[in-house]
Amino acid sequence: MKRTIQNVLLGLVTTILALLPVFSHAKDRVYSTDVVVIGAGGSGLSAAVSAAENGAKVIVLEKMPIAGGSTNYAEGLFAIGTKQLRDDGQDISKQAFYKQIMEYGHWRTDAALLRQFVDESDKNIEWLEKNGVRFDAVKMSYADSPVWHLVMDYKTFHHGAALVNRLLDVCEEKGVKIMYETPAKKLIYNNGVVKGVEGVDAKGNKVIINSGSVIIATGGFPNNKEMIDKYTRFDSKKVVADLPLQKNGDGINMAMEVGGAAEGWGLMTHQATAGPGVIPFGNLFTMTWQPSLWVNKYGKRFVDESIVFSFVSTGNAVEHAPDSFAWQIFDQETFDKYAEKDGIEAGIGVIIPIGTKMTNLQKEFEDSEKAGNPNAVMADSIAELAAKIKVDPKVLAETIKNYNSYKEYNLDKEFYTDPKWIMPVKKGKFYAIKIVPQAYVSLGGIKVDSKMRALDANDKEIKGLYVVGCDVGGLYGDTYTLFASGSAFGFAAYSGRVAGADAAMQAHK
Ligand SMILES: Cc1cc2nc3c(=O)[nH]c(=O)nc-3n(C[C@H](O)[C@H](O)[C@H](O)COP(=O)(O)OP(=O)(O)OC[C@H]3O[C@@H](n4cnc5c(N)ncnc54)[C@H](O)[C@@H]3O)c2cc1C
Repeated sequence: MKRTIQNVLLGLVTTILALLPVFSHAKDRVYSTDVVVIGAGGSGLSAAVSAAENGAKVIVLEKMPIAGGSTNYAEGLFAIGTKQLRDDGQDISKQAFYKQIMEYGHWRTDAALLRQFVDESDKNIEWLEKNGVRFDAVKMSYADSPVWHLVMDYKTFHHGAALVNRLLDVCEEKGVKIMYETPAKKLIYNNGVVKGVEGVDAKGNKVIINSGSVIIATGGFPNNKEMIDKYTRFDSKKVVADLPLQKNGDGINMAMEVGGAAEGWGLMTHQATAGPGVIPFGNLFTMTWQPSLWVNKYGKRFVDESIVFSFVSTGNAVEHAPDSFAWQIFDQETFDKYAEKDGIEAGIGVIIPIGTKMTNLQKEFEDSEKAGNPNAVMADSIAELAAKIKVDPKVLAETIKNYNSYKEYNLDKEFYTDPKWIMPVKKGKFYAIKIVPQAYVSLGGIKVDSKMRALDANDKEIKGLYVVGCDVGGLYGDTYTLFASGSAFGFAAYSGRVAGADAAMQAHK
């Protein structure tokens, strides 16, 4: 938990640093290289290492003062058929898993690309291991298969940040030049071929890099409200990014400017709470991931609350509720269960594991009340709670009466919730937390072929241009494949590796 908060603070500080004004005198800086990678996150660093180990001279441009992007916060990568799974006696079929992924996306995804990714997922882990990244295979939640390969610590770094820092060291060993605080602005494109990229450094100098090829790895567009409104079915006023990482779709837009075709627009959402005094990934936030009574803006139940065990489905359900919010309601007994007795039922990855006790919950409610946050409230009666969350007290009382009875009957007559997850609301104090959907990652982007070469509207390769990681489109249907745990992170490393190797080969042709 402490580590998560540190990571979030680090993200905020780096964002502020990146936005500081530039006063120095500007002049052009010109470079020449085999491969230029835009973005030093998981996919970009994998691409840089892969290109360098295949003999290419590589420059990486990174917008922020540090590398890693959202990969710093990620934990595990998807893979099947690995040594870790074999050692654990797990015999998971690639074929069955692939079919499940395709069915989940209603076959509206890139079947060939996904087949390739699933088939080669074990080789991907082996490649990362060869480069010094270490893994353990675990389940993401009790319902999932153990395909989530958790990154083990490297130096003082954990999970995604461990992979980032290991790959940064490999980059250094292989002579990859990384230019921080140097966002790429546009591709150099002549006669139908991408020949490099232009950026701006921290002093305001124009940076021109002429290169054999460009690999776009800018991590999607979760922080770009205009793109969310323009391309996805989501409303950016109702679904905001959970981290202020400045991932504004720069790479996707640069690729589209030179004719790149896009598909698969969407967002990977999860439940959250926000407002004055609320700590990201703190106890109030984590409570929204736990089963208990949920009501909509009318004070009525609208969903089987045990959906919390799949955060992407929960994000969808909350987004679909009237005005895209819900109230989580619980009494003192449930408060005590999560805060003191049993701890939480649903973990947030391994960052906040199952069983963690919400020992700061009382303080966070009080701090949030002091800060005037209307989204986390306490009351001595149901009527008082109803007034605070602005729902009809009669409706709320009726909802609670019915909900409590489902525990007694051992049957949820409304939504078939397993009675195990019904947390009766009986004795005060009573608590309510407003739940909103937040975006983890954007879905969708540029279409690519099997080598991650960008495609145009006629499915023709755009010469010299590769796209990887969260800038690639066509991997998901309308919802992220959470059951294939670690798909986004796994694909980031996989696509980077494939693109880097091909770009290096092109440089030596
Ligand atoms: C809290 C959290 C937990 C997660 N956990 C998991 C998990 O366990 N498993 C999983 O599969 N996925 C997880 N994800 C998603 C996962 O992090 C991403 O899918 C994946 O790591 C993204 O890799 P990427 O290289 O595409 O983007 P990033 O790692 O975000 O890298 C993009 C980089 O590009 C840089 N950039 C942007 N624009 C420019 C520009 N114009 N010029 C230069 N640089 C630029 C950014 O600053 C950033 O460094 C998680 C995400 C979050 C936020």
